[in-house]
Order: sequence, then structure tokens, then C-alpha cells
Amino acid sequence: MRAAVYHGGGRRVAIEDVRVKDPGVGEVRVAIRAAGLCHSDLSVIDGSIPYPTPVVLGHEGAGIVEAVGPGVTAVKEGDAVVLSTLAHCGRCAACETGRATECRNAPSPKDAQPFTVDGKPAYQFANTSAFAERTVVREQSAIPIDPRVPFDRAALIGCGIMTGVGAVVNRAKVETGATMAVFGLGGIGLSCVQGGVLAGAAKIVAVDVVAEKLALARRLGATHTVDASRDDPVAAIKELTGGGADYTFEAVGNLAVIKQALDALGPGGALTIVGVPKLGSSLEFVVHALYQNKAILGCRYGTARPRRDFALLADLYLGGRLKIDELITQHYALEELPRALEDLEAGRLARGVFLLDRVA
Ligand SMILES: [Zn+2]
Ligand SMILES: [Zn+2]
Repeated sequence: MRAAVYHGGGRRVAIEDVRVKDPGVGEVRVAIRAAGLCHSDLSVIDGSIPYPTPVVLGHEGAGIVEAVGPGVTAVKEGDAVVLSTLAHCGRCAACETGRATECRNAPSPKDAQPFTVDGKPAYQFANTSAFAERTVVREQSAIPIDPRVPFDRAALIGCGIMTGVGAVVNRAKVETGATMAVFGLGGIGLSCVQGGVLAGAAKIVAVDVVAEKLALARRLGATHTVDASRDDPVAAIKELTGGGADYTFEAVGNLAVIKQALDALGPGGALTIVGVPKLGSSLEFVVHALYQNKAILGCRYGTARPRRDFALLADLYLGGRLKIDELITQHYALEELPRALEDLEAGRLARGVFLLDRVA
């Protein structure tokens, strides 16, 4: 089968003939139908996220269950599923209280090698590896979803939408009437904007440097936009919110932007860092800036509870209250991955989506 393999050393990703093992105990083989390109895939290639190689990339996918291993009960052959990148034990105190993203016994995704390339084992990325015609995942990573959601839309629920909407509703817990600002309007930032709409935020200020993304943010529910290439976003947000936002979200992974998102908070406000800077990065800030009950929150995977949240997001989409169609800038065949990566780096994509049955 075809899959996108990264061999390390900054070399280009190649579409190669790859074998995937049969599902073992508690595992599920999924035929991927669609997979979104997320910035974290690029971060593996540029070294920002160190990962063992060779690795089959992609982590935002949806498809159909093709086979299940012994003991699998939550899905069966033929089910439509969205892949979850979360691995958790299900038994620790965090898991038992619905905080699986804080699991203390989670297996490392860097241990799994379900693929074979040129006779050698290849690693799985983020418990998923969606840039492949087939993958084998743990049962807990194959989340059944309403089959009326088209696969290219469903795929986005598995990372970008979960991460962005979840940061707002699960992590920051934005309340009705609050003011918020979102820095960076890729697939995740735009999903933060939509999370604000779902939460009932009174003002949603969207910040980016690309005019098309600002326009799209407005269509998705931003009440105000700031072009940071022209205007100072901190001053603009303070002006719009009477002295600073209740909530800010950084969805770029840029240290200077994280600083701006901190400076744009009002008293009692909370910054949620959603973007992922290069591993090991550090940031200096004036400690006293937090004095008025301000907070900085980390956020992993939208603080997801995948079985509950994926179904909920699918229902919101089917009910017309969560927009996914608008997030898809372009479809690609898997062979067009180099072009899709260029488009992503150039800021041309909210989301680019690979259709696995398409041939270039
Ligand atoms: Zn992602
Ligand atoms: Zn656990």
C-alpha cells in the first residue's frame, strides 16, 4: 500500500510501498479515506518535534474499520471512524476522572512500529499514521463517528477541530458573554474562533497577518479582526475589550506571539497556549504581569475526551453549528504531499486534505 514515509535528516517525504501488520489483541486496522495536513507533520520534518525514523506521517485521519483484532468490542468491520492521537491507560486516577490527556501511564507513541518499509520496521506517528492507505491503531484510537459526516470533514475532527474547539470549551472553559482573542488563524486558530461561538463569547477578536484568513475568521464567527502586519494587536484588543480580553489563545507556536497573547489579557484573564514552539523553547515575562489573577494554561489535544467530544463535534457539524467545509482550502492526492507542505509553509492553507483514493 502507499504511505508517506519520512526517513529523517530533513530529507523530503517520499510516497512509498509500505506494509502494515495485521491487528493484534485490542487493535484495529483502518482503511484511511481522508487525512488532513497539520502543522505537527511539518514539525517532524523540520526537526521541531524530534521523532524516530523512518516514520509514517499524518495524524488527522478518518476511514473505515477493515479488520479488528481479538478482544475489540467498541468498533466492528465497516464502521466509520475518526483517528484519535491520544493513548491512555483508562485506569489511572486522571483517566477515571475523564482527564485522559493527563494520563500518567500512557504508552509512548514512539514505541510502535506497525509498518515495514524496504524490509525494515517503520514507526507510527502520534498513535495514528494517517498518510497511509491503511493503518493499525489501538481500539481507543479508532473512534466511531456518524457516517453521514463526509470523511474529508470527519478527518479534521481528529486533530485541528478537537484541539481548537477543545482549548476554548474544555480547557479555558470560556463562558457566555466573555471576551476572547485568537492569535493565528490556521485550522486550529479558526477552530478556537468557532469554539468561542459555541461557548457564546460576546467578542471574538481574530488576529493574523493574512487578509484571507481574517475574512474566513469573520465568516466563522469572529466579531472583530486585527491585521497584525498593519496594527498592534495588543493595543487593538485592549481597545476592543475595555482593557484586555478575558481569554486569549495562541495558535501559532511563536514565542513573540505568545508574549503578545499574554500582554493582551485583562485582569482575571487566562492565556491558553495551543501552538507548539520548537521543543525546549523558553520565554521570559514580567512575573508581575500575572498579578491581577491572570493565568497561563497549557493545553494538550484540546483536553479531549475523544469518545464524547468527537461524537459531539460531529453532531454540531451535522446540525450546521460547527463549520468544517469552510476550513478545507484544498484537496490533494497523497503524491502531492510536497506541494501541500509548500502551501502550508506559505500560509495558503486553513487545512489541506489528502483523499487516499485519489491518484495524482
Ligand atoms: Zn495535528
Ligand atoms: Zn491513565
